[in-house]
Amino acid sequence: QKRLDRIKMNVKSFPDFPKSGIIFRDIFPLFHDPSLIDDVLYILKHHIKNNIKNYDTIIGLESRGFLIGPLLAYELRVPFVPIRKAGKLPGKVESIAYELEYGSDKFEIQIDSVKPNSNCIIVDDLLATGGSARSAVELIRKCGSNIVNVIVLIELIDLKGRLQYPEPTFSLVKF
Ligand code: 5GP
Repeated sequence: QKRLDRIKMNVKSFPDFPKSGIIFRDIFPLFHDPSLIDDVLYILKHHIKNNIKNYDTIIGLESRGFLIGPLLAYELRVPFVPIRKAGKLPGKVESIAYELEYGSDKFEIQIDSVKPNSNCIIVDDLLATGGSARSAVELIRKCGSNIVNVIVLIELIDLKGRLQYPEPTFSLVKF
């Protein structure tokens, strides 16, 4: 609990960003102090070890899923695979259109990057409406793989994003 409190204290809130009425939760302050990243990884590893039997791939969502995703994958000694916005990944890609809190976009994944029938954990910084996570779930399914967990540092619980897909969600900090 001490670790969680410290993490929550260091997420900075910015009212009316990027537009009025929205409170933006900024996770970058966590990266100013490596001991906070130790805490984040400690809790995530503990959660995975105790709750997820089979996993073999960490999937990070552009762009802030690329901050924690690779660190976690490295610690767990499993591959890290990015899902990016359209047009940024070379080679053959699978794609899916999605909606997010501030507009709409398209996600892509390199087809060869996930082995069929993989058991994937999706990682992102924050779960809001759940639109991004749901699209990532659908994109991975399109590639013939499974999602065993969605992990986010922050969950905006009033938006009920976790109800957008059937797979379980784990969040460190809830607002
Ligand atoms: P959703 O698709 O769940 O509505 O929105 C989640 C996505 O939007 C995440 O990829 C996240 O990075 C971004 N996002 C939305 N609101 C915030 C916020 O307040 N703080 C941060 N750090 N990211 C946000």
